[in-house]
Amino acid sequence: MKRTLLFFDLDDTILQNPMVDAVFPAIFDYFRSYHPELTDEILWKELNGILYPRYHARKIEAFDWDEMVQQVAQKYGVPFDTPIEKMIEENAHSPYLRIFDHVHEVLSALKTDGKYSLAIGTNGHWRYQKPSVKALGLLDYFDYILTPDRTGYLKGSPGFYQSALNGSKLQITIGDQYDADVEEPLQLGFHAVWRPAQLPVGTDRDQSPFERALAMDIPSPYSLRADAVITGFSELIPVIEEIDRRFFDN
Ligand SMILES: [Mg+2]
Repeated sequence: MKRTLLFFDLDDTILQNPMVDAVFPAIFDYFRSYHPELTDEILWKELNGILYPRYHARKIEAFDWDEMVQQVAQKYGVPFDTPIEKMIEENAHSPYLRIFDHVHEVLSALKTDGKYSLAIGTNGHWRYQKPSVKALGLLDYFDYILTPDRTGYLKGSPGFYQSALNGSKLQITIGDQYDADVEEPLQLGFHAVWRPAQLPVGTDRDQSPFERALAMDIPSPYSLRADAVITGFSELIPVIEEIDRRFFDN
């Protein structure tokens, strides 16, 4: 048992998975070979029309891509039977799979430090995430893998984190989505480090991650403030050490 537990989001926090640049473009082109009128916009609208109501109802099927693509395929009479997991596996390499700068060195340092337990916390089902995590050689850094299909909950629900808590006193999430990676974890009493795609209004690169968190406008419609805002993994270790120090020195 470690006293501090770190939850890492995957997509757009530590990596970009092959779905974005390889899998969805291939699926959409295949749909268009039957129905040329199906633009990316139309197809995303179809998929999001299934995804978002489920996400807001906190259903774990929200991110079951096979099932969602199958529904759209049936609607348009497109015969589609390739497992998406297989398409991800085949494209889990450069340039379709990208790891962000400093991720390896930072995860390695946190792991060998010995103070921290490390968990993957992602809304991507494990069969879709495993090929990327394996291909990037990240699996050994993590003590826990939390996904909706493994936990029975979406990220942000208390049950999602339960199996990793294991007596830890301090929990810190690191991620890019304000709802699932910041606001909801804060509501559960965790601390949160936000890694936005772009720095929020009112902040700049010269500020410290803690200064940015205090200076930013909290993104609408949320109400809780991240502990720190980082531009990338090069800033992460001092932030975690400071949150840890403040927590245990008090
Ligand atoms: Mg993410």
